[in-house]
Amino acid sequence: MALQIEQLQIPGYEQVVTFRAEDFCCYIALHSTKLGPALGGCRVKPYSSEAEVLRDALRLSKAMSYKSSLAGLNFGGGKCCVMADTVTPEIMRQVGEAVNFFQGRYITAEDVGTSLADTAIAGEVTPYVARLDGSPMTARGVLAATMAAVRHLDQWDGLEVPLWVQGLGKVGMDVVRRLKGHPNLYVSDLRADRVTEAKALGAAELGETDRKFITVYLPCALGFVVTPGNVHTLTYSIICGAANNQLADDSYADVLRRGHVLYVPDFLANAGGVICSAYEAQEPYDQTACEAATDRLGDRVLEVLETAKHDGVAPLVAANRLAEARLY
Ligand code: NAD
Repeated sequence: MALQIEQLQIPGYEQVVTFRAEDFCCYIALHSTKLGPALGGCRVKPYSSEAEVLRDALRLSKAMSYKSSLAGLNFGGGKCCVMADTVTPEIMRQVGEAVNFFQGRYITAEDVGTSLADTAIAGEVTPYVARLDGSPMTARGVLAATMAAVRHLDQWDGLEVPLWVQGLGKVGMDVVRRLKGHPNLYVSDLRADRVTEAKALGAAELGETDRKFITVYLPCALGFVVTPGNVHTLTYSIICGAANNQLADDSYADVLRRGHVLYVPDFLANAGGVICSAYEAQEPYDQTACEAATDRLGDRVLEVLETAKHDGVAPLVAANRLAEARLY
């Protein structure tokens, strides 16, 4: 069945389109293509209303514009949000058709609720799909960002301070692999098998009382880890991880700054994945160039942290300003 297409006019957004068919409802938001084609994943979730789908597509596409801009990429930000209990091959084929509507101005990828296998199904219908797993590059970028934060603080010789990787999924486990041999590496995950795997790589499982000794915290599980309940009492020197939306509220960035917790904005620390998609989109894919670009995230982190220090603002504020300078 052909998709019904409706264009919405949303101030601040370049193009927002809904695609509907029987049992299919999808919103694709292109926040900005000023710097280049919009990159951003395809999220499939049992949203409770279309208003919620739209809100997510708007919020996430804007976040992608900021992430790409800050990472120095010539790509914009977009997002595809599908309202469904679970992903199916038919949904992914319809997503592929919807993506084709933008004729290359939007490139989709895996996201919450979709896997590489799912997006490959969309890829049977459209060429505008990232097919590589960006997780290794995300892990590499998290470590480049963390090292930059350590250099910025200039308190220790290197990364060999007590360090906690929370979440041992695609990104977190890769971080642990890259840190193999680290003498002070703590990990946690809800899944015991993943903790066991990390222990085999030399990590120790984090116990409740260990938290107060942790110097560097790498959240690589879910977001909202800095909450109203803990923001005033966190004692880590550095927070720098892959999880999206680590702050329950953006205003906490300043609370952390005043509490001497160096928070590297998540959308900067986790930009390795989008760098991978950007390099994939520039055929032929050059792994060495992609790795070098990911490592340069460290320089960007230093620039953000130094600007923030100079301006007396939280790194999040400095990061937003630097992203906006290229976007507007
Ligand atoms: P994943 O689903 O592969 O792994 C997440 C892991 O966190 C799982 O092992 C899960 O059991 C664990 N977990 C969940 N709740 C936890 C808790 N309370 N304590 C400890 N562990 C917990 O996800 P991923 O691809 O590794 O991504 C990790 C985070 O980074 C996510 O927030 C994701 O949105 C974000 N991110 C990922 C990428 C990427 O390239 N994969 C890019 C940017 C951002």
